[in-house]
Parts: sequence; C-alpha cells; structure tokens
Amino acid sequence: MIVMKFGGSSVGSAEAIKKTCSIVINNIEKQPYVVVSALSGITDLLISSAKTAKSGDMEALGKIKDTHKEVISALNLDPKIVDQELEELETTLKGIAYLHELTDRTMDTIMSFGERCSSKIIAAYLTAQGHKSSAFTGWDAGIITDSVHKNASYLADSYDRIAERMKNLDVLPVITGFIAHDADGEITTLGRGGSDLTASIIGVGIDADEIQIWTDVDGVMTCDPRICSNARTLPTMSFREASELAYFGAKILHPKTIQPAVKKNIPVVVKNTFNPEFDGTRVIESKVKGNTISGIALKRNVTVITIVSSRMLDAHGFISKIFKVFDDLKISVDMVATSEVSVSITLDGENGCRYDVIAELSKLGEVKCESDNAIICVVGDGIEDNPRLKGRIINAITSNDIIIKMISQGASSINVGLVVKGSDAEKAAKLLHDELIDSE
Ligand code: ADP
Ligand code: ASP
Ligand code: MG
Repeated sequence: MIVMKFGGSSVGSAEAIKKTCSIVINNIEKQPYVVVSALSGITDLLISSAKTAKSGDMEALGKIKDTHKEVISALNLDPKIVDQELEELETTLKGIAYLHELTDRTMDTIMSFGERCSSKIIAAYLTAQGHKSSAFTGWDAGIITDSVHKNASYLADSYDRIAERMKNLDVLPVITGFIAHDADGEITTLGRGGSDLTASIIGVGIDADEIQIWTDVDGVMTCDPRICSNARTLPTMSFREASELAYFGAKILHPKTIQPAVKKNIPVVVKNTFNPEFDGTRVIESKVKGNTISGIALKRNVTVITIVSSRMLDAHGFISKIFKVFDDLKISVDMVATSEVSVSITLDGENGCRYDVIAELSKLGEVKCESDNAIICVVGDGIEDNPRLKGRIINAITSNDIIIKMISQGASSINVGLVVKGSDAEKAAKLLHDELIDSE
C-alpha cells in the first residue's frame, strides 16, 4: 500500500486532474490511498469569502462555484456532484452575514469545503475511468485532533481508528487532506498546507510502504526555486533535514509532515505531477551519503521580541518566567538567544507585537518588539562536523552589509538560523545558497 497526496496545483484544472488520475491508475497495483488538497486557489477564496461575508459581500462564493462547475463540466462528470457542499457553504456564509460574526470554528468549516469538493470530483473521475472510487473526509478516515481551530494537532488515537476504518476497502479511496474532527465532532483544520500532514498520518495508520507527496516541482530543492534560480533537486534527505527545512519555511512540506513518518520509518517521496518520470526526492531515516548542507529555508513575517533586564544577572528562573508567558498564551517560540542581561525570542508573524504578550513581558523587563523580520535557516546533516561553516555563513551575509539580528544553532546541530530584516531576506538566502551550495 502507498499513500499518494496531490497538492492544489496537481488538482488545479481539468487537465491537471487528468494527469493526477493517470498517475494514480499507473500505480494501481500498489494499492494507492489518494489524499487530495482543494483545487488550486480555492482555500484562499474560501477564506476571503468568509471574511467578506461578514459585510454581506458574496462575490467570492460565485468564483468558488464557477471554478468547480467549470472543472466538473470539462471532465464530463455529473454537474450536481458537489451541489450539496456548495449549498452548505452558501448557508454557512449567509449565517456569517446574518450574525456579523466569524469565529475560528466557523472558518474551519468554511475552509473544509475545498477538500470536500475536490475529493468528490477526483473520486468521480477515477470511477469514470473504470476504477471504482469513493471520497472520504479526514474524519471518515479516522483522523481526530485537538480543538485548536485553524491549526489543530492530530491525536495519536487517529492511527488505530484509521487502521480500523481504512484497511481492506473494496474501493479506491480519495481522502480529503487538511481537515479532521475534534473529539466533539467539530470540523478542524491542520494549518495551511496541512494535506501533506494528512498523507503522513494516513500512511502510518495503514502501515504504508511509502508516502508520496506529488506537487509542482521536481522534489525538495536546495532552496525555494522562486527565490534561488540555481536551486537543484536533492535526490535524498534525512528525516531530520526535511523536518528542519519544513519547519523553517520550505513550503514544499507542511512543518509536521515528517513527524508521523518517522514513527514507522516510512519513506516520504516528493515528486512532480508534471514530470512524473523524474525520481524526485526520497526522505529517509538516514542518507547513504550527502552534502554538508542540504538546503536553505526562509520564513517570513517573523517577530523578534527582546526582553532586557538587569534582574537576569545571576537570577535563576528568569527565563522560565518568560517562557511561561508564551506557554500561558499558547504561542510557540522558534528561536531563542540570550546574553547576560537580555533574551531575544522569535515568533511567527501572525502573533505580531501582540498587546497581551508585550503587557505580560513588560512585567519582567524592558521589552522591544520588531515585526517584519525573516529567519534564514541553513540545514544539513554535515553541519555538526564542520566547525568552520558558521564563520562562512556569517561572513557571506555581513560582507554584503546585511545585519544579522540573531543567530542560533539548533539543538539538533544540523541547522543554523539567522534573523535578518524582512527586506534583506531574499538577498541573504541567495548569498548563502551561492556560498554554501552552488560553489560545492
Ligand atoms: P502543493 O500545492 O503541491 O502542496 P505547495 O505550493 O504547497 O504545493 O509547495 C510547492 C512549492 O513550494 C513549490 O512550488 C516551491 O515554490 C515551494 N518551495 C519552497 N521551498 C522549496 C524547496 N526547498 N524545494 C522545493 N520547493 C520549495
Ligand atoms: N488546501 C489547504 C491549503 O491551501 C491544504 C493544502 O493544500 O495542503 O492550505
Ligand atoms: Mg503544500
């Protein structure tokens, strides 16, 4: 058995859906479990439909309906197959308009319609090609999460539930990525790009031989090809490397994708739907032989908070008080650097310079908060054995007059993270790619 996950661009048009389905059919003897994202651009449209519905504007709904109808018609499928979902979406949007209220819980319900529609379309097309197929939602398949709407964490109970519900099917399953239920049966989502994670959870649940992530590039590359034109595909990577790259912003994989796969040591293979012959990238427990550096990732919209306090000198428990503030507010911290009298911390952009964070931290010292920074992360299994590398990294950046605001070597010692101003981020990533990867 294998899991085959297809992202938004792989199901973005009737042509792409045909390609995707032919790839699935070519692998039919491997018993594929297909996981799909929403049609390209639909999740963004659903989010804006919910936001604009608050003021009674229903324009985005029209675009969502048209996109689905056009694809269904171009594939010659029953024109009504997603009518129920689209009607339910319309009713939910009208509810938002009526109440002038949009909660995170409702946003999850709204976002769920993208994958609920795409899975039905793809299952119908596979059936029309002679392979009896059914659409399953993430909750039908057994995925259960906590109740943190818009960024839920899957619960380990999911695995047994998936094994129970999804093994020995007599149809080809097409499972919605990204969406699940909490213990109360409310719809939750796994964070943007979460279909990759769904694939990995399903892979563990069914004990798959391989988890395949099909996308629009040739695999995991040494840098986002939209930033570094000379980026190249990595034939293999270790689980550790892929986790770090994904966590620090390589959009190719959802940050938590590797977590479940590691549990059962299932290879994660990243391949290109539009170049299926190419081997892509194989992410495995440990590589046979590798480069010192695998890749450079870039995470934008990073906020840096610095707390300065002379009370820190010789005082124990100061850092734990700082972390308690983030813990209480359920905010996760990425990078930390400390000096004798200060602690600097980075947060994801959407938290920004939040009033409640600043107010709590101000009780501990003088607080400075700066938004619009970026983390550039250099990742590679070889970093830990290469003491000179940090000097090269710092030199490549500072000799081009870019200021490094923070630097940290992760506990795993296979990454070095740098914080720079948002406007310097792309230049810094390219400089590091040229210095550390292109020149090797
Ligand atoms: P999908 O819709 O298939 O999930 P995504 O847009 O989420 O696709 O991810 C694929 C995109 O990730 C690529 O088009 C590429 O621009 C971007 N990307 C960022 N970092 C990397 C990287 N290191 N290697 C490959 N692609 C990357
Ligand atoms: N459709 C969701 C998103 O756009 C999930 C995914 O594509 O993986 O974020
Ligand atoms: Mg993605």
